[in-house]
Amino acid sequence: MPTYEYHCFKCKKNFSIYVSVEEHKKHPHPKCPKCKDSSVKQLFKSISVITSKKS
Ligand SMILES: [Zn+2]
Repeated sequence: MPTYEYHCFKCKKNFSIYVSVEEHKKHPHPKCPKCKDSSVKQLFKSISVITSKKS
């Protein structure tokens, strides 16, 4: 399962959640585990995209 990184606007903390792609599609905006607020945005830095660069 991939790890999704989020930034919470309320407490200004980053957090990561570890859910399946299916679950993430169902709940693209999870609640912050710290302040339980859902004003979060997803960060894409930690998603490891496996690309095979064959030139
Ligand atoms: Zn928060």
